[in-house]
Amino acid sequence: MQTQNLGYPRIGGQRQLKKACEQYWANKIDLNELNQVARKIKEENWQLQLDAGIDLIPCNDFSFYDQVLDMSLLLGAIPQRYAPVLTEVKGNQETDLYFAMARGYQKYGLDITAMEMTKWLDTNYHYLVPEFTAKQEFRIFSEKVFGEFNAAKKLLGEKAKPVLLGPVSYLLLGKEKEQGFNRIDLIKQLVPVYVELINRLKQQGAEWIQLDEPCLVLDLSKKDKEAFEFAYRSIANRVSGVKILVATYFDALLDNTQLAVNLPVAALHVDLVRAPEQLEEILALIPDQLQLSLGVVDGRNVWKNDYEKSLVLINRAIEQLGADRIIIAPSCSLLHSPIDLDLETTIDLEIKNWMAFAKQKLNEVAELKLILKGNDSLLQLNKAAIQSRKSSEKVHKPLVKNRVTAITEGDASRNSVFSVRQQLHINRFNLPSFPTTTIGSFPQTDDIRQLRAKLKKGELSLAQYETAIEQATIACVRWQEEIGLDVLVHGEFERNDMVEYFGEQLDGFLFTKNGWVQSYGSRCVKPPVIYGDVSRPDDMTVRWSKFAAAQTDRPMKGMLTGPVTILQWSFVRDDQVRETTTNQIAFAIRDEVLALEAAGIGIIQIDEAAIREGLPLRKAKHPQYLDWAVKAFRITAGGVQDKTQIHTHMCYSEFNNIIEHIAAMDADVITIETSRSQMELLEAFADFEYPNEIGPGVYDIHSPRVPSTEEMASLLTKAATLLPTRNLWVNPDCGLKTRKWPETKAALQNMVAAAKLAREQIKVQYVN
Ligand code: GLN
Ligand code: ZN
Repeated sequence: MQTQNLGYPRIGGQRQLKKACEQYWANKIDLNELNQVARKIKEENWQLQLDAGIDLIPCNDFSFYDQVLDMSLLLGAIPQRYAPVLTEVKGNQETDLYFAMARGYQKYGLDITAMEMTKWLDTNYHYLVPEFTAKQEFRIFSEKVFGEFNAAKKLLGEKAKPVLLGPVSYLLLGKEKEQGFNRIDLIKQLVPVYVELINRLKQQGAEWIQLDEPCLVLDLSKKDKEAFEFAYRSIANRVSGVKILVATYFDALLDNTQLAVNLPVAALHVDLVRAPEQLEEILALIPDQLQLSLGVVDGRNVWKNDYEKSLVLINRAIEQLGADRIIIAPSCSLLHSPIDLDLETTIDLEIKNWMAFAKQKLNEVAELKLILKGNDSLLQLNKAAIQSRKSSEKVHKPLVKNRVTAITEGDASRNSVFSVRQQLHINRFNLPSFPTTTIGSFPQTDDIRQLRAKLKKGELSLAQYETAIEQATIACVRWQEEIGLDVLVHGEFERNDMVEYFGEQLDGFLFTKNGWVQSYGSRCVKPPVIYGDVSRPDDMTVRWSKFAAAQTDRPMKGMLTGPVTILQWSFVRDDQVRETTTNQIAFAIRDEVLALEAAGIGIIQIDEAAIREGLPLRKAKHPQYLDWAVKAFRITAGGVQDKTQIHTHMCYSEFNNIIEHIAAMDADVITIETSRSQMELLEAFADFEYPNEIGPGVYDIHSPRVPSTEEMASLLTKAATLLPTRNLWVNPDCGLKTRKWPETKAALQNMVAAAKLAREQIKVQYVN
C-alpha cells in the first residue's frame, strides 16, 4: 500500500509568495529574488511531505499565479494579443508574458487586457480561463515543469511525481474565443503535445505522472466522453514505462464511472470525502490491474479526519483489490486548506484538537497507513478527539437544534402576498418612481482601516473608535441627503468584511490568525470557521442602523448578510449537513431582522451575494440545493410585518436557470449586477415576468471609471422596456467599499441625475 498527496499550498506559511510577487510587480525585487522565495517554498514543502512519510509527492503543483495559466504557457496556448510582450519588451520575457496574461499589461505604450478569471469548479479558488481559436495550435512553450521536476527529483528521488492538468479538463475548462468550432475537437491537436511532454518527463526519470481530470465528475456530453477515451488511448499507445494517475475530485463519478475506470492508465484517484458512496460502484466496475487512490482525508476543510470512518472505506477496498493496489490520499489538492494549525496559538485548545490544516492532513494520510500496519495508539488518540467533538457542549446547543427542527411553513413566509405588501410600502415610504439607493458600503478608506488596526493594537479605546466611526457615518448620511438619494444607508464603516463582521458576533464561529487560502494570484482569504451550533447572543447591527437613522428623516436601510453567503464564505461543519447549518444561521439573522424592525428600521436588506456559487456541480442536484437555500432566505425575512420592506442583493447577473428560485425568495426588492452586460441579463427577469421590485445596477463599481448621466439614463430606458417601470429602482452594481470617494461622489451624483431624467422621460409608461 502507498500514500500520496495531490498538491500542497504554495503561498507559504507566512504568505511569502504573495509578498514576493507583489514586490516583484512593484519592481522592488528582481526575478532572481522572486525565484529564490519560490525555491525555498518548494523545497520546504517537499521536505515536509518527505518527513511525513508520503510515498508519492507532487511537483509542478507550485505556481506563481495559477496552475491553469501554467498549463496555457506550457502548451503554448498564448492568445495573440500578448505577442507584443515577446517581440517588443526586453526583459524577463517568459515571466513578463506570464504575468501579462495573469494581470494585463500597461507598459511601454502597450495596453493589453488580462485573461478572464473564473471559479475553479465549486471552490473559491479562481483560475485563468484558457482561450482557444478555431485554428489553435499547441507546442511545448514553457520549460517550467521540467525544471521543477528536476529539482524535486534531486530531493525526493523516485517519489517525485509531476502534476499536470489533464488534456480533456484543460479544454473543457477553457473557452472558444471565436465562433464556428467546439473546443473539445482540439483534443486531436493537443494530445500529441501531452505525449511529448510525458515522454520528456519519463526520460528525465519520472515514474508516476498525475493528470488531473476534475471534469470527470461533471455532466459530460457524448463528445466529451469520446474525447476522454481518445486522449487516454492515444497516450497509452504512444507512451510506455511511466505510470499515469488520473485524479478526479469534488464529487462522484456517477454516470462517468464506467468511462473513468476503463481509461488505460495505471491508477485512478477518487474523492471519498464528498462521495464515499461511490466506492461500491467503482469496486464493482474496476478492471484488474487498475490501482485505486482513495481520497479519504478532506482537502477542502479544516477538520480532523475520522480514522474509523476512513478505515472502513480503505478496508473495504483492500478486501476486494488487495493492499498493493491501494493508495491513500487527501480527497483533492491541499491548495484549498489553510497551511499549518501549529501556527494558531489563540484557538481554544479543545476545539483545536478537532482540527487539521494541510500539514496535519499529510500526517493523517501517513498515520492511516501506520494504523493499517497495526499502530493502535494512533487510532485511539484519534477516536478520543472525534468523541470529544461529538459530545462537546461547545458544539451542541439543544435550543438551537430544536428551533431548526421545529421550522414551519409559516416561519418561511411573509404574512401577505407581494402585491398587498407593495401597496403598504408605497403608502409608507412615499418614494418617487425610479427610487435611488446604494448597495450598502461606502469607501473603506485607509483612515477607516487604520482605526480598526489601532483599536486592535489597543492604541484606540473602544469609545474613541466608535466616535470616529460615528463621525464617518454622519458625514456619509449628510452627503447622501445632499445629493438627493431616496433610500439611505449607513455606509458599513464599522465592518471589516460582510461575513467576518457577523461571524465575530455569532456563537459557533472561530477565527484563525494565519488560516490563509489562495483565492487568486496573490490574493488570499481567511474564512471564518463554523464549529458549533450557531446562535446570536446579542444585537449585531442595531446600534449602527439606529444611530444612522437618527441623523435623517429619509428612510435608512438596515444591512445584513444572508445565511447562504455566510455559509459559502466560511469553513463549514462536516458533522452536520449544510442545510441545517444554514438554517441555524438563518434564524440568527431573522432575529436581527426583527430587532431592526423593532428599532424602527422600515427597510432591511439581506445580501445573498453567494447563492449562485453554492450550486452543486451536477445539474440533477440543483433543485434540492436551491430549495433549501431559498427557504433559508425566507426564514430570515419571514418574521417581519407586511409594512417592512425586505431587499436582497446579488453580485452577478446570470439568472437564466435559477430565476424561478430567485422569485421564490419573495424579496420585496432585489438589486443585481447588470451594467457590464448592458442590461442584457435583465431578460431572464422579463421573460419570467418577475413580479417584485428590482434594481438593475446601472453603474459598474469594479472600476474607478465614472459613468455619465446619459449613459445611466439610457440603461434605465432599456430596463424600462423590459420590466414594469413602477417596479424599477436605481442603484450601483454592488457595494462601494473598494472605491475612492471622488469617483464615488461623481458617479452617484450622475446616477441621481439619471433617475431624475428617467422620471421625466419615462413618465408615460409609468402610468400604465
Ligand atoms: N452590502 C454589501 C456592500 O455594500 C454587499 C457586498 C456584496 O454584495 N459583495 O458592501
Ligand atoms: Zn454585490
